[in-house]
Amino acid sequence: MGEQRLLITDAVIVTMDETLGDLEGDILVEDRRIRAIGRGLAAEDAVRIDARGRIAIPGLIDCHRHVWQTALRSVTANWSLMDYVRGIRTAAGPAFRPEDIHAAQLAGALEMLNAGVTTVVDYSHDLLTPDHAWEAVRGLEESGIRALWCAGFNTPPGSENRFGDTTGKATFFRELARARFSGTGGRILLGIAPEELPLSTADAVEQQYRFARELGARITHHVNSAPFGRPPLEIAEELGPRGLLGPDVLLVHMNCTNDDEWRAVVESGASVVFTPETELQMGMGFPSTRRARSLGLRPAIGADIVSNNSGDLFFQLRLALQAERAQANEPRLRESEIIEGTSVPARQALAWGTVHGAEACGMADRVGRLAPGMAADLVLLDAEDVGMLGWSGRDAADHVVLQAHPGLVDTVLVDGRFLKRDGRLVADLEPLRQRMSETTEHVARTIEAAGGFGVADRSAGWDEAGETP
Ligand SMILES: [Zn+2]
Repeated sequence: MGEQRLLITDAVIVTMDETLGDLEGDILVEDRRIRAIGRGLAAEDAVRIDARGRIAIPGLIDCHRHVWQTALRSVTANWSLMDYVRGIRTAAGPAFRPEDIHAAQLAGALEMLNAGVTTVVDYSHDLLTPDHAWEAVRGLEESGIRALWCAGFNTPPGSENRFGDTTGKATFFRELARARFSGTGGRILLGIAPEELPLSTADAVEQQYRFARELGARITHHVNSAPFGRPPLEIAEELGPRGLLGPDVLLVHMNCTNDDEWRAVVESGASVVFTPETELQMGMGFPSTRRARSLGLRPAIGADIVSNNSGDLFFQLRLALQAERAQANEPRLRESEIIEGTSVPARQALAWGTVHGAEACGMADRVGRLAPGMAADLVLLDAEDVGMLGWSGRDAADHVVLQAHPGLVDTVLVDGRFLKRDGRLVADLEPLRQRMSETTEHVARTIEAAGGFGVADRSAGWDEAGETP
């Protein structure tokens, strides 16, 4: 076995497993996996973790994040999607050196772990050079997080293209796959993020989908995000007719998807992920959880960019939940109907961030539920914190969705390894603080020297109501 056995005792356990449900009891971890869950488990040689006053949940799964943007925290606070494309994709992307990517990836992954996120789908679309790619993977690996690292085929605009054409990038990704990713059992898996259709050609995108499949890599793709002057119809006109959708595809945003396109998604077996905060802010509309669920899809959720919002996935799940409820109520309110009950139970939002997320990133056989045989990726939340006082101990999943936040994350295990314990990350943050301050300064100065983000500062014109004129 070689590794410590752990016995986590007397926790309130929200397994998210249909058979096991919620229970009070123990979790036995052995050889990086959950061996048993139940009351009064015996394991004399195991290290015991007293989890009285703790709620155990599966590690959260963030299915859409651009981790490299950790060095640009909050810069997009007042931006729309077009501002973002201009300011981040065009102006900021080229400012990153490989060492900046490494620092940002490591800091971003540690932020996630600190907040109870144990798996991430990282949409890595600032790969200016091969070194940027190596460093992006290294940063994730060093943190201990589990990830589907999706290599972006896009060429960051304004950057020197070190890969030649799509074929050059494919050759490099093939080399990277051989050298860094082997088999399907690793903690970090390789995925592919094809270029966005509005920024490329359909032929190039098709080539990239076919390449990913050759490599056996899953695909994640920004699709039908915003109208750009007309309905995007990316599924109706390109992905559908070209036969590119399939169960290995995770589609992102999808806010402007029409009914026929939604049906095509369902038929293909593809998964979907929504990012409530950026979608609500940036002009992409309401997250599509309601639409997707009505068709039997099981949506996942992502925090998207910490260049905008925090990496707190509890908040994103809650925001998606309440946005969906508000959306369901709105037409009824307009008819002066009295609203009874809510359209979706709170517990459902925890499924979006656990079981559904695991399905969406192709890891349902190992994460997303606490059950024997699953990887020991789990989180203990402090239910004795002052902000948790007054909870009766009932309906733990509802309680977690409505009240939890990263400050309550007491313990985080990934693959049976402690990455946070007693409320503190195990990693030494001091050297990283120094490196991130250098990186943030370098990136900010480089952007400034090149003329800034190119996004109008609209704050000067705000009237008293806080509206832009
Ligand atoms: Zn995105």
